[in-house]
Amino acid sequence: MLLSSYKITRTLPCLADPEKIRVIAEVSGEIYEAFPYLNAILKGCIYNHPALTLTIKKDGKLFTLHAQHITLAKIEDEKEAEEILIWLKDLINDTYENRDRIEPNFSKGAELKALDIFKLLPGTSCKKCGEMTCLAFAVKLVGRDIEITKCDPLFSEKYQEKRNVLLELLHAAGFEVPSEFLNP
Ligand code: SF4
Repeated sequence: MLLSSYKITRTLPCLADPEKIRVIAEVSGEIYEAFPYLNAILKGCIYNHPALTLTIKKDGKLFTLHAQHITLAKIEDEKEAEEILIWLKDLINDTYENRDRIEPNFSKGAELKALDIFKLLPGTSCKKCGEMTCLAFAVKLVGRDIEITKCDPLFSEKYQEKRNVLLELLHAAGFEVPSEFLNP
């Protein structure tokens, strides 16, 4: 069994909805060997093979798998987090056990949308990045014409939580992000 156990280690407020939470769970061992097989059988994943991350989109929620931990976003409560983690554990183990019958997919899969990025920017359209609006910045960023570090306000304490989620999403999609700001 690739994933025998997990433990919720952090629960944080969700940015999109203050009544929801963001959950980080450490997993036993390393689970990255299942990622290309999960990427082959699930629709709409974002896979970053060099960084060993796989983001799964399901029912409007985002689950990001790392080699040794899992992040769940837009979660109702710890009960829902437990249900999703049980689902993920079974999915990861079943997929890995059946890997001989699955053609692994190492492609990046779904691309990030400008709107996904825009929702996590400060949203003040302060123009400090040189763009007229945050949406214009998001469009350029998704097209890889500007770097996330050009949004100075995002790196202030006020936007720490938004920054954590956005940098994790960008990292999972293969964008360059300052490693000192990434979650463990
Ligand atoms: S610097 Fe950041 S907050 Fe200001 S307009 Fe650009 S993207 Fe928006």
